[in-house]
Amino acid sequence: MDDRMFRTAMGKFTTGVTVIASEHNGEVHGMTANAFMSVSLDPKLILISVGENAKMNEILQEAQKFTVNILTENQQELSMIFAGQIKDRKVIFNTFEGMPVLEDALVSLACRVYDSYAAGDHILYIGEVINLSVQDGEPLTFYEGKYNQVTS
Ligand code: FAD
Repeated sequence: MDDRMFRTAMGKFTTGVTVIASEHNGEVHGMTANAFMSVSLDPKLILISVGENAKMNEILQEAQKFTVNILTENQQELSMIFAGQIKDRKVIFNTFEGMPVLEDALVSLACRVYDSYAAGDHILYIGEVINLSVQDGEPLTFYEGKYNQVTS
């Protein structure tokens, strides 16, 4: 099995799109991620997977806390900004539980790092959700490398 076939297969799994955000030394850093899942209800745990070369790792290892912002169908541009596909845009973050969150996200989860594991070329972060906010709206989705919207 080659890398392309693996990527193609994984791309058949439709996901939402999140922006992970964290702050360290007064710098807010965001990163687009669709490797996100709910893990446990008691305690309330979620998981994100971050590439070992991503700058986000340095920030998470220092800050030990982060937010997960689930994007709405109107926030594709934010996904592209935090994936490095649109450059040099200023983004305003709000503060929630002392952490940076994106205004108008469908859901924002404020998490502390509960555990982390190296897994191949990624680092898995388990986050304990300490608070969350939910807003009305429809999610941005990602399938076969393309953005989509949920149609009802
Ligand atoms: P950088 O590449 O340095 O930063 C990312 C971009 O965000 C840069 O352009 C930077 O200027 C901008 N940025 C950061 N903070 C701010 C700020 N405060 N204000 C304005 N702009 C800012 N990678 C994974 O590891 N795991 C995943 O699950 C994952 N899922 C993805 C899903 C999708 C749909 C896409 C498009 C990409 C995904 N990626 C994922 C890839 C990942 O988003 C990119 O590789 C990203 O560039 C890695 O970020 P970084 O932490 O290395 O920082």
